[in-house]
Amino acid sequence: MRPLVATVDLAALRHNYQLARQCGPGRQAFAVVKANAYGHGVARVVETLKPLADGFAVASLEEALQVRDVAPHARLLLLEGCFEPDEYALAAQHGLDVAVQGDEQAHWLLAAKLDRPLNVWLKLDSGMHRLGMDASSVRRWHARLAEAEQVAELNLMSHFACADERGHWLNDRQLECFASLVDLPFTHRSLANSAATLTLPAAHQDWLRPGIMLYGASPFAELSAETLGLRPVMTLTSRIIAVRELAPGETVGYGATWRSERKARIGTVACGYADGYPRTAPVGTEVVVRGRRVPLAGRVSMDMLAVDLTDLPEAGMGDEVELWGAQVTIDELAQACGTIGYELLTKVTARVPRHYRS
Ligand SMILES: *Cc1c(COP(=O)(O)O)cnc(C)c1O
Repeated sequence: MRPLVATVDLAALRHNYQLARQCGPGRQAFAVVKANAYGHGVARVVETLKPLADGFAVASLEEALQVRDVAPHARLLLLEGCFEPDEYALAAQHGLDVAVQGDEQAHWLLAAKLDRPLNVWLKLDSGMHRLGMDASSVRRWHARLAEAEQVAELNLMSHFACADERGHWLNDRQLECFASLVDLPFTHRSLANSAATLTLPAAHQDWLRPGIMLYGASPFAELSAETLGLRPVMTLTSRIIAVRELAPGETVGYGATWRSERKARIGTVACGYADGYPRTAPVGTEVVVRGRRVPLAGRVSMDMLAVDLTDLPEAGMGDEVELWGAQVTIDELAQACGTIGYELLTKVTARVPRHYRS
């Protein structure tokens, strides 16, 4: 079998969810499990969090049905609401909570024939300017939806654009906008993603919506997951499947972009960009072999990458390689590649087996 494996630490996942809840004592928290639980495998993640989570949140009805298979009774929120009018009946059948993010969705909802009323989360555009209604529209729809037979609870939600940048001016603007609707009688309110859960108590409201922090990555560029008390959940490991000695001046990999300046020892690792390891990883990006960091040599290819083992003579064939995990954090690798942990985690491809450890 190919030695590349993504090991998912379920105890760390539980720890991180509990940490989110401790950030907002007395609040409830939707565990955000969209995009296959940020690449970790939605079924096992939901099964693991089900006994402790107040609810789950996903991006579509299709994702919600995957969660429903594992958690038939859990509270389950569609963060972007329904994409087509037909979906409201299904959402009601499956007992989902739905965001209503614009006039079209509100009209579809009012025209829907439902088995039972839905919990609705009116989405306020408090400054992200992607989804949601402005404050006066929310007021108008509140009046209409509060009376509608399709609506059970009427709730309010919004989403931050810059909560990962502490002190950003837009955070205060968005908080003020949200607070401007304090007089409306919503059942529940929700505003905080991971970054706001961790650092913006004013945003906590009734329901937190932590995503990335559950998986042990930091939403902040300048605050490490470890500093925040988070434990890494996914460890991506493989093995060295070939070793060769190069004379000074020889090159490695596609494009011959890496050239040895000395007698070098190169190890080939079974992991490439078709697994989700970023092709943009610059030369010098580190992986861990036998507890020591060694740099990439040359370009990442589809199924393999090469590392320079010259300074680690004891390393050899079959040695385990940590691509990311507790030693090389996902955030460190993401920063080196000019991206964020979210992208690397969600791009681990289907051919990488997930192994679960409790
Ligand atoms: C994805 C998402 C979240 C979770 O965000 P994180 O930064 O991963 O914590 C919360 N709310 C909404 C609306 C989302 O789309």
